[in-house]
Amino acid sequence: MSSLFETATNWAGNVTFGAARWHRPQSIDELRRLVANSERIRAVGSGHSFSTVADTRGDLVRLDGLPHVIELDTTASAVTVSAGLRYADVILGLERAGFALANLASLPHISIAGSVATGTHGSGDTQRCLAASVRALQLIGPEGDMVELSRDADPDLFPGSVVALGALGIVTRLTLDIEPSYEMAQSVRVAVPLDEVSAHFDAVSGAAYSVSVFTDWGGDEAQVWLKRRTDRSDSGWSGGRPAGQPMNPVPGMPPEFSTRQLDVPGPWCERLPHFRPELTPGAGEELQSEYYLPRAAAPAAIAALRGLGQRLAPALHIAEVRTVRADDLWLSPAHGRDSVTFHFTWVKDLERVRPLIAEVEAALLPLGARPHWGKLTALAPRDIAALYEHIDAFAQLARKHDPSGTFRNDFTDNLLGTA
Ligand SMILES: Cc1cc2nc3c(=O)[nH]c(=O)nc-3n(C[C@H](O)[C@H](O)[C@H](O)COP(=O)(O)OP(=O)(O)OC[C@H]3O[C@@H](n4cnc5c(N)ncnc54)[C@H](O)[C@@H]3O)c2cc1C
Repeated sequence: MSSLFETATNWAGNVTFGAARWHRPQSIDELRRLVANSERIRAVGSGHSFSTVADTRGDLVRLDGLPHVIELDTTASAVTVSAGLRYADVILGLERAGFALANLASLPHISIAGSVATGTHGSGDTQRCLAASVRALQLIGPEGDMVELSRDADPDLFPGSVVALGALGIVTRLTLDIEPSYEMAQSVRVAVPLDEVSAHFDAVSGAAYSVSVFTDWGGDEAQVWLKRRTDRSDSGWSGGRPAGQPMNPVPGMPPEFSTRQLDVPGPWCERLPHFRPELTPGAGEELQSEYYLPRAAAPAAIAALRGLGQRLAPALHIAEVRTVRADDLWLSPAHGRDSVTFHFTWVKDLERVRPLIAEVEAALLPLGARPHWGKLTALAPRDIAALYEHIDAFAQLARKHDPSGTFRNDFTDNLLGTA
């Protein structure tokens, strides 16, 4: 995280933050005073977004200097965490206490508040995005006031308040649903024909609790990563052949950073993410874009991307296909529809990648694609807004919480038409 201060860029280095001032408060009271005295302020999490969603020209505040809070409520099956924490800071302790989260993203080193704010997801037919496990939020409003929101007490507005792009206030605490710890085993199938993935998509994506299909779209085959819960049954699909050795999702990268494979059972937190919580990968030489489509569009999207494959593959480190269950969060890209996601890890060369992103979007938008809030897109903000039926209600909610626009930035101004 210190690199955020040292370089004033996001993790990938493609966004140089325009903040006039940076802050790292040590207490909630200090943060409240900061907010009350600022005209424009915004929190940055671990800076892993590739879009400018976290940027501001005003005050940028990171929360990892605040007291760390991890409060387990076993009776209510919930954990309350301070917003500056990363999933990696929480999951190992949670496991030691006998509890688990239902889902994690590929990388556990992303901040919880930042991931929730952008609708970040993992994979699994039965798993919703990470924000869907948020039960309650505490945030600081524009006057430095404390606001409490919860699924139970605010059923009408809470679905608009979780994936909120930082526009409602500075989140200081989140309460997440937990469940008893579970065991998983991870295995990789190689040389899986893309024809088979497309023709039997439900069987492939249902072959484990969490499934990821990796390809560069340039050939006819994929790798399928299966993360099965040892207490659940699955579709029984097992195409291709088993990998004989540990793999990294990115071809050519060392397997040491990857979570344990070869079907060895172990705790959920050491199998569910692709990358190991206890090892922090360095800043990446990559750019990312990603799209959530209705899952019924999977075969058509696969066919479209295979058609572009010879052009995409040379500019890709890797691409990944995952599934996400529908939720009711207004700005979640999986809102209201079970989704299939198409992710692209590009080489770090924006001039080369930009036209390819536009080509991918020309192919996927007619199939109902919604871009990831934290990744790159060629779409204009107003065109993104048009993809969300609750966008006007969200703009109204943001005005209600923040009438003076203290938490707005160029990203949300352009999206909500409040510039
Ligand atoms: C290597 C890598 C792997 C990734 N893997 C996945 C993946 O598997 N699945 C996926 O969906 N995405 C993935 N992403 C994208 C990533 O999850 C999102 O960009 C996410 O938002 C990153 O969290 P962050 O804390 O870095 O957020 P930031 O980029 O720091 O911030 C994102 C947004 O959250 C807001 N925010 C942060 N903290 C607060 C707060 N306390 N209060 C209010 N607003 C706040 C910011 O203002 C901003 O609007 C990956 C990114 C990288 C670089």
